[in-house]
Amino acid sequence: MTMLNVGRPTRPEGAVGGAGHTSLGGGRGLLQDEPLIFELGGWDKTGVDLPAADQDASDLGDLVRSAPIGLPGLSEPETMRHYVRLSQKNHAIDLALYPLGSCTMKHNPRLNEKMARLAGFADLHPLAPQSTVQGALALMDRLAHWLKTLTGMPAVALSPKAGAHGELCGLLSIRAAHEANGQGHRRTVLVPTSAHGTNPATAAFVGYSVVEIAQTEDGRVDIADLAAKLSPDVAAIMVTNPNTCGLFEREVIEIGRLTHEAGAYFYCDGANFNAIVGRVRPGDLGVDAMHINLHKTFSTPHGGGGPGAGPVVLSAALAPFAPAPWVVAGEDGFELVEEAEGEAAQAFGRMSAFHGQMGMFVRAYAYMLSHGADGLRQVAEDAVLNANYLKARLSSVMSPAFPEGPCMHEALFDDGWLDGTGVTTLDFAKAMIDEGFHPMTMYFPLVVHGAMLIEPTETEPKQELDRFCEALIALAGAAKAGEVDRFKGAPYLAPMRRLDETLAARKPRLTWRSDDKGVSPAPLAAE
Ligand SMILES: *Cc1c(COP(=O)(O)O)cnc(C)c1O
Repeated sequence: MTMLNVGRPTRPEGAVGGAGHTSLGGGRGLLQDEPLIFELGGWDKTGVDLPAADQDASDLGDLVRSAPIGLPGLSEPETMRHYVRLSQKNHAIDLALYPLGSCTMKHNPRLNEKMARLAGFADLHPLAPQSTVQGALALMDRLAHWLKTLTGMPAVALSPKAGAHGELCGLLSIRAAHEANGQGHRRTVLVPTSAHGTNPATAAFVGYSVVEIAQTEDGRVDIADLAAKLSPDVAAIMVTNPNTCGLFEREVIEIGRLTHEAGAYFYCDGANFNAIVGRVRPGDLGVDAMHINLHKTFSTPHGGGGPGAGPVVLSAALAPFAPAPWVVAGEDGFELVEEAEGEAAQAFGRMSAFHGQMGMFVRAYAYMLSHGADGLRQVAEDAVLNANYLKARLSSVMSPAFPEGPCMHEALFDDGWLDGTGVTTLDFAKAMIDEGFHPMTMYFPLVVHGAMLIEPTETEPKQELDRFCEALIALAGAAKAGEVDRFKGAPYLAPMRRLDETLAARKPRLTWRSDDKGVSPAPLAAE
């Protein structure tokens, strides 16, 4: 029997790349192969047992359905097993490190979940009379207070439902402010080359044209290029800080000064706020608007785990243009201001129905209270420490994109170290899956060739970081030793092998028809 590098027996010979041992029915160990729910269900079954109706539902007249709608029928245990089996095929932050750079996949404390499930929060209806939801409004008011205090900004719009939605909110406020100031002719938004794709997409969605700002050798905004591109046509700049290369924009105050001098607003993409929370107040840096991903910085579940929320803090110049609604504290308690009249007349409208993601507000506020101001500061310190630990250990085998100096909360490598091995960033990421690790973010930011962006987050213990480093160092050794097959065919051990992700994104099969049952899927190209 052969042993793997941590001294335990390996899987049976030939498991990687060879025939290995395959089961007869597609299961693996105790993991079952799982069909679609539509393929599982008999149409004649149901998980509930309702008495027959004693009255004809004939009120519907001609609208009565003439054929069943084809919902799958499963008993309760079948339903439970279906979803639990599917969940076993997914990676989750509760299983292991989830080092997706820029995504901040950190542990979601269970205390937050407990708070969000309190009936007084979980069972609220958004149309309940305000006098009956004073506690919820008070929580929104406290959350707003913490967000304003942590960022040093005078106003916050809580309703945006994600980071990208917050960007939209920020740019709509900026557009409304320019229009109110007779500057509606400004049509351009400047965005650095390393920006997250949502930044230029949001600017384009609002109707602005996007002009790129160059990057310096050391991965920061090129100030000379910014100064050259700022003109009376520029409405705003969108800069991420720390940026998507995991680096702090050292010239950020100068960036703000130049922007304001040109009559434009400074939008900061605050998705990386967990790297500086409690240590830097963006309001002190000249920022006019910044979204905060509660699901990143303040640990609410996201990705497959939950909906996220993207409140936007606003400077005094933009505060009058915040979207409705907002909470005000009055003599008779809290009030949610919904109508665009009086003080709210300049609001550009609403970002969404109702007031935002209440469940995320509760989780984020619970996170803030359980950490306290000192704990939040330590969040930033630990996020940066963990990333620098990975950068230092992995630099022995991989090539850091910006070797000079420390990084912030994520460690960025290029693919220079894979030169001549025949292995690409994609191959390497797929081989990580066989080793039991979710890959890092690949090929982003675009300014770094074959980028591998690793964000460990502050909640990973050193032991897990070491396990991760040892897996990557062993894989890097295999790549350099010419074991190309280990990479090209990976993943060998995942429920699915290498999928055609481009085809899946371009031509997704989003429907299933009952006559598909038992028939192998038609080739995608035929649809
Ligand atoms: C995650 C992220 C966004 C988008 O946030 P969503 O909540 O996913 O919409 C924008 N910019 C950066 C830098 C991000 O990391």
